[in-house]
Amino acid sequence: MISSFYENKKEINKQLEAIYSQILPGNCKSCANCCSESVGASFTEAANIYVYLLENSLFTPDLKKAIMVYYLDIYQKRNKCPFLDKTKRCKIYEVRPLNCRLYGHWLKDDYESNLKRLHKQALDISKEFNENGYEVSKEYLDFQIPYCHDFIGELYDLSFRNRLYDRLVNIDSGFIISNNLEIDYADKGIVEHIAGLLFDTEAIDKLRFENKLTDKLRRRLIKIAEHIIPKVYINK
Ligand code: SF4
Ligand code: SF4
Repeated sequence: MISSFYENKKEINKQLEAIYSQILPGNCKSCANCCSESVGASFTEAANIYVYLLENSLFTPDLKKAIMVYYLDIYQKRNKCPFLDKTKRCKIYEVRPLNCRLYGHWLKDDYESNLKRLHKQALDISKEFNENGYEVSKEYLDFQIPYCHDFIGELYDLSFRNRLYDRLVNIDSGFIISNNLEIDYADKGIVEHIAGLLFDTEAIDKLRFENKLTDKLRRRLIKIAEHIIPKVYINK
């Protein structure tokens, strides 16, 4: 699928940029509070990030490790977004997804309603997992990034946001249909997408839900992650 992305990269980039350019720049304190977890991204946004990381030699052992740690811990604790560097800068700033770009632009009421929706989503996931014998942590359930009061700029309402999200969905579905791809189109964070392109996440999920992810195995997987060579799917 990344090879298909390469073939369509120019056109998809143009379409993504057309969406991103709708968001007016503002004044951000760069505190990085909004980078306290991996945010949601569309499939083509994630493919764009994967290619950016490859082309800029950013798949360092530390980054691969951080992605693995985030993935392993996903239902137990919230680690910071692995693309945040030590100086609180985003390693993928140029290609960061729409959700990151829109962060400071929330209206407070919309933001609070969205937190409630996310909490309900986490409760539903937790219920489903509990029924299957896997327990998610309280930290996972209760995690919330507080509303940002520090950003100064345009605030966008839900209809504006939804128009942009619809355009992202259109890019994804156009790409998936025209390339006849079978992609799990679930709501995913950037890290889940990128982890899925780097590691066998299905095998990790199976271990997790069978409660076989021991500390020893976890340490081994993190060590292995450091040495994984990201696939370069180029169809020239
Ligand atoms: S948008 Fe808000 S929370 Fe995010 S870095 Fe800027 S000031 Fe901090
Ligand atoms: S991708 Fe960048 S901007 Fe978005 S949450 Fe991660 S570090 Fe922050």
